[in-house]
Amino acid sequence: MRTALISDIHSNLSAFETVLADIDSRKVDRIVSLGDIIGYGPDPKECVDLVAKRCEWSLMGNHDFGVLYEPTNFNAAAESAAYWTRRQLEPPANGTAEAAGYDREEAVRRWNFLGSLRVRVTWGPFLSVHGSPRRPINEYIFPEDPLNSAKKLKDIFARIKPSRVCLVGHTHVPGVFTDDPDFLPAAEMADGLYTFSGKEMVIVNPGSVGQPRDLDPRASYAILETGDADEPVSVTFIRLDYDIERTVAKIRATEELNDWLGERLLQGR
Ligand code: ZN
Repeated sequence: MRTALISDIHSNLSAFETVLADIDSRKVDRIVSLGDIIGYGPDPKECVDLVAKRCEWSLMGNHDFGVLYEPTNFNAAAESAAYWTRRQLEPPANGTAEAAGYDREEAVRRWNFLGSLRVRVTWGPFLSVHGSPRRPINEYIFPEDPLNSAKKLKDIFARIKPSRVCLVGHTHVPGVFTDDPDFLPAAEMADGLYTFSGKEMVIVNPGSVGQPRDLDPRASYAILETGDADEPVSVTFIRLDYDIERTVAKIRATEELNDWLGERLLQGR
C-alpha cells in the first residue's frame, strides 16, 4: 500500500493544491495528514475542506489546537494569525450581523471537523503524532537533537513502543531519525529514498507542505510504501515548486497576517 504523508499545510492553498496534483499523478492509495492544517497562511477554509475531502484522517497539530482553543507559546505573528484564522472559521451565532449571508451549516461542519482531529493514530507498526510521542501536540524533535540531546531522543524512542515507526510533523524539516541516534536529512538521501532494512525503530518526518523550514522553499511531502501486514518498505521524500507568490500576495493583502509570514515562505525558513 502507498500512503501519502502530508503535514503542516498551514493554510497555504497554493502549496496544498500542487501537492495534491502530484499525489494524483502517482499511484497512491490514501492520504493522511499529520496536523497543522491551519495557522500562518491565508486560506484556512479551503485547506480544512480539502483535508476533510481528501485525507483518510488528520491529526491535531499545535496550530489547529491554538485556533480551536488557545494559542500558547506562539510568537506575536503566529498568535495574531491564530486569532484571525479563528474569525474565518468559527461559526457566527444565529441572529448576529456576521451570520447574515453566511453558510452557517458549512461553518459548523468545518468547525466540528477541526474539533474531531485526533491526537494520535496507530496502525500496524506505526504510531502517528504531530509533535512527539511524549507530548503529541507540542514537543519538537529537532534535527540537531541526536547531537545535542541524546537522552531526550532515547526517551522518545522508548515511548514509541509497542509501535516501531513513528510519523511526525511539527518541525517542518523532512528526514528520518534513527535510534543510534542520528538524523538523516531527506535532501541527503539518493533520490529522496529511505529503505527500511528490517525491524529498526525510526521516526519519519515528511516535512511541511505549506511552510518548509530547511532553507528549501519548495513544498515537501512523502510517500510511505508498506507491504504485507503493514510492514514498512520505504519512504520517498518529494519536493515541489509551487506558486509561492500567490500565497505571499494574499498574506500581504491581509492586515492581521504579518508580512514576515510571506517573507519566510520565500526563504524556506
Ligand atoms: Zn507547523
